[in-house]
Amino acid sequence: KEELNIIQGALELRTKTVQDALTPLNDCFMLVSDAVLDFNTMSDIMQSGYTRIPVYDNERFNIIDILFVKDLAFVDPDDCTPLKTITQFYKHPLHCVFNDTRLDAMLEEFKKGKSHLAIVQKVNSEGEGDPFYEVMGIITLEDVIEEIIKSEILDE
Ligand code: ADP
Repeated sequence: KEELNIIQGALELRTKTVQDALTPLNDCFMLVSDAVLDFNTMSDIMQSGYTRIPVYDNERFNIIDILFVKDLAFVDPDDCTPLKTITQFYKHPLHCVFNDTRLDAMLEEFKKGKSHLAIVQKVNSEGEGDPFYEVMGIITLEDVIEEIIKSEILDE
């Protein structure tokens, strides 16, 4: 029964898209780029429990960096280091994908191992002005695996 479920989940990777599995932008734990890594910010980060945290400039849809929690290993909260100092030192590449990317293609991307988190964007051509890229949320390898096994993976 469970095997059947997984096989079905795997087959559905070809019909589902990134949009079906993403974490919406509103639910993302993120940091603003001019944050200071003081005790409060660092405990918020630790309490969030996430390993990768998008960093935005001014507006949440304007993601410009990713902070890895492991980047904080040598940061002392007493130094009140600006977040920018850390993100500019590590410069982790941002990986963007479109909302209509099929999940099987997304899995192949993640398997290549460059990054296991991608920013999902769509082309917004509604309204009067020119079409523009709109950030919808983030997707990670875990989201794709959950679609295969068709159940939530609870975090540690
Ligand atoms: P982590 O290693 O941080 O637990 P995973 O890649 O295992 O992250 O993803 C677990 C779930 O959490 C996925 O649904 C993913 O979309 C979501 N997720 C990952 N990072 C964040 C974040 N910064 N804010 C909100 N949700 C996130």
